[in-house]
Amino acid sequence: MGEYDRGSTFELRCEVQQYAWGKIGSASEVARLSSSAHADFAVAEDEPYAELWMGAHPKAPSQILTPKTSLSLLEYIKKNPGVLGKKVNNVFKGELPFLLKVLSVNKSLSIQAHPNKSHAEKLFAERPDIYKDPNHKPEMAIALTPFEGMCGFRPLEEIQMFLKEVPEFRAVVGESEAENIMKCKPGDDYVAKALKSCFENVMKCNAEVRKENLSKLISRISAMDQESESFSKYSGELLLRLNSQFPGDVGCFVVYFLNHIILKPGEAMFLGANEPHAYLDGNCIECMACSDNVVRAGLTPKLIDVPTLCEMLNYQPATPKSKIFPSIQKKDDPYVKEYNPPVDDFAVQYISIPKGVSEYTIKAIDSASILLVFEGEGSANKSKPSGLDLRPGAVFFISADTDVAISLSETPFIAFRALCIL
Ligand SMILES: [Zn+2]
Repeated sequence: MGEYDRGSTFELRCEVQQYAWGKIGSASEVARLSSSAHADFAVAEDEPYAELWMGAHPKAPSQILTPKTSLSLLEYIKKNPGVLGKKVNNVFKGELPFLLKVLSVNKSLSIQAHPNKSHAEKLFAERPDIYKDPNHKPEMAIALTPFEGMCGFRPLEEIQMFLKEVPEFRAVVGESEAENIMKCKPGDDYVAKALKSCFENVMKCNAEVRKENLSKLISRISAMDQESESFSKYSGELLLRLNSQFPGDVGCFVVYFLNHIILKPGEAMFLGANEPHAYLDGNCIECMACSDNVVRAGLTPKLIDVPTLCEMLNYQPATPKSKIFPSIQKKDDPYVKEYNPPVDDFAVQYISIPKGVSEYTIKAIDSASILLVFEGEGSANKSKPSGLDLRPGAVFFISADTDVAISLSETPFIAFRALCIL
């Protein structure tokens, strides 16, 4: 195997997913990175480029590009589980536990939540046709551009304000549930229960009643002056946009339950089990556990499993600010910030090296990692025969316990590195 022994770093060719919700042509970060890294990647200006998958997911494993081989990363790790690192190999039974992605979102993705591990096992055992694996799916989004989403239930006072001032919303929530939650005070033990009843009623609301109220609301909001205070107070712009993307969808009312968040570049959201969320617009880096378990809540033509969804959600109201996941500056390296969520499956490092630093070592860690170059040029391991070319969009697999020496040209260098911290 020679160059493929433990201790190697190699370049990957990663698959692009052209889902319809992706940004179009070169407006997509996915298209920009892929065409920058690969001369043979031609961007069609009328096609969507939604996701870039970097990892060993069986649906689209990355291919090993340099040094030359016909293996995918999935096959390679199966043959050489030692490259994962001892702890990762033991805990995750010979599999790379995370998938790193770039997402370019042009049109809202479904409102959704992901089950925890034991719930995922139960769902998979009972309904393998819908829940296709027994794994949990925590995920994290790090904004590359302003990145818009919804996440977690809004503070109680905001939901009460909407119930008071938006009669169409109150009508689908139902009068007795609305009265119940209007009586709650922030911090009361029964807030979560009252909120659950309200949300459940909206999800189970008779389709005719729901559509009628939504269309009333849409015409009322459309007639408002878009510069007015009430238009923004009632999330007019978002509501009209979602209704134009998914006319009549129950997800339009979910706007009044969930926090509307716009991350600044570098800010992150961590989506743990049972956290309701949706991605609405922008480019981000996403890292997740390897699973496809999604329970949907709207803005989708796909199945909404209402009983499972309503039972599982985290109904604790919280501010949008509390949903932003902080990164930590590494003490031993001024160029690395780490996003380390409370799960074993993954963490992400943001590596930013200023212009003028020409030599740097990407430090060995006790986990396999995947590195995406976002900005900058240079080379890695240039003293070895397997020297690698660094450029935006290039993706590398780095075996555990492996230092990577890089030389940089006169430009700032930015990269994201997914890894496990056990
Ligand atoms: Zn999700």
